[in-house]
Amino acid sequence: MSGAAPSAAAPLFGKVALLGVGLIGSSLALACRRHGLVGELAGYARRPETRATIERLGLTDSVHDDPAEAVAGADLVVLCVPVGANAAVAEAMAPGLKAGAIVSDVGSVKQAVIRDVGPFLPDGVHFVPGHPIAGTEHSGPEAGFADLFEERYCVLTPPPGTDEAAVEKVAELWRRCGARVEAMEAAHHDKVLAMTSHLPHLISYTIVGTAFDLAESERGEVIKYAAGGFRDFTRIAGSDPVMWRDIFLNNREAVLEILQRFGEDLSRLQRAIRWGEGEALEDLFQRTREIRRGVIQLGQAGTFDAREQKKDGQGD
Ligand code: NAP
Repeated sequence: MSGAAPSAAAPLFGKVALLGVGLIGSSLALACRRHGLVGELAGYARRPETRATIERLGLTDSVHDDPAEAVAGADLVVLCVPVGANAAVAEAMAPGLKAGAIVSDVGSVKQAVIRDVGPFLPDGVHFVPGHPIAGTEHSGPEAGFADLFEERYCVLTPPPGTDEAAVEKVAELWRRCGARVEAMEAAHHDKVLAMTSHLPHLISYTIVGTAFDLAESERGEVIKYAAGGFRDFTRIAGSDPVMWRDIFLNNREAVLEILQRFGEDLSRLQRAIRWGEGEALEDLFQRTREIRRGVIQLGQAGTFDAREQKKDGQGD
């Protein structure tokens, strides 16, 4: 991830194609524009409404309904669709890719993306999978903002043998968008994210679902007094249903493994409460408080920002 950075004035890429222009794709478009990183931006979206919004907001120079048309002549292609849609989009774009192009993505799961996209890429095209760990619970092209990636990590998971110059160019793109870039093995990424992101989302979906299933009178009270911890769970549980369906289906092994451990830890807590083991509870809460302090010291706790989403969104 090291190497001389190209001059700040020169665009890094001539043409970049964004396949999928939702929260992440539109934020990347805005960040690229703000920092002068690309000569030309092309966008692909599936639905006419989304294409109309992209045009209205002027997010990309051209808007396409065909992935192969969008990627024609592109030096960099970034897949920004839900993880489960990557295979079909990669297959559709493949005939349009130019020799020497770099293909990357932003998917929240990495092994599945490598499995699904890799087979469609012609020889001479470089594949550099990536995951900006930045996001909010909002979706669509109107949700994007240019500083979404600032001070956030972006993890690249290039398979062994990937062209180093291509990896460095993608790393530099993210660095210039304000992100801190790290490289990791895809399997390791998926395990870490199962813990830090996928499990918390699953717990949030469960808690909010449980609250909704309460008797109507209790449900009303829960919503009324949601100012406590419950409110944070509802924010996370408001995340995009399709994106999260795809994450759980495509990171199944790692999520199930972490859920197993979580279940055991939860049972231990249950027992401590049942038997009045205050010391055990306090010990755990003391340790978790120290973990929270560590997160704050690393600057990943979220700060009050002018943008409401940035304030709330910790990234997925
Ligand atoms: P989003 O706002 O919902 O946007 C998704 C985009 O993909 C839209 O342009 C949508 O087009 C398109 N799309 C959806 N289904 C498709 C399909 N079957 N075929 C072709 N295009 C399809 O999603 P996002 O939050 O930007 O997430 C995009 C990717 O980033 C996901 O892989 C996610 O895992 C990853 N990610 C998300 C976050 C986050 O916090 N949101 C953070 C990091 C990484 P239409 O509108 O035309 O349907």
